Amino acid sequence: MNRSGIVALTLSVAALVVALFIVRPKTWPSTDEVSPANTSQAAPVPRSSFEAVATRVVDGDTVRLSDGRELRYIGIDCAEKGEPYAEEAKARNRTLVEGKHLRIETDEETTDRYGRVLGYAYVEGSKKSVNEMLVEDGLALYFLVPPNKALAAQLFAAQGRARERHRGTWSQKVPNVEPYYVGSSDRFHRPNCTHVKDIQHPTQFPTREAALDAGRSPCRTCKP
Ligand SMILES: [Zn+2]
Repeated sequence: MNRSGIVALTLSVAALVVALFIVRPKTWPSTDEVSPANTSQAAPVPRSSFEAVATRVVDGDTVRLSDGRELRYIGIDCAEKGEPYAEEAKARNRTLVEGKHLRIETDEETTDRYGRVLGYAYVEGSKKSVNEMLVEDGLALYFLVPPNKALAAQLFAAQGRARERHRGTWSQKVPNVEPYYVGSSDRFHRPNCTHVKDIQHPTQFPTREAALDAGRSPCRTCKP
């Protein structure tokens, strides 16, 4: 290697050392970056949001969006077509959202098996979700489907107010026709429901009211 070669090599090594010094410290987290302020931050719930116009109401808990998709409100369940309060729920949903700009917040699962978007809908300028308003009016039941539980507390409280005020479906007194009801972690059933045998840790409730008080929703199969 001649003299100029040695100079070039020396300069290259020097440049590399300088480069390592400049670059490496930047890749190491500073003490600030690992401080509790960053590590203790809870994950934001709900997880993400997007905006769309509700172009058409399908039923009490489903709307067609301007992006062509269908949105199913989560944490709640409205009566099916033909059942009591199904039409009232649809009409109320129409009044609340049709033609309006919505912000939709998603939970753990963003779509269901039918390809519908799962979310909580907020009409522009409102802090209360449409999901909660429908429950508060007694036109939707509090109805959790794990793992989507971001608004569980708000929705359960809204159902408590609706029951107390005999709103919508809660104006009807449903008799306790079974000797007891069987609860899973989220539902309650009639004792002879086909789903009862699959419940891992069943809870027994003397009345429907006791099951509802404990946050269980009526099974959609045996409709207790
Ligand atoms: Zn059942």
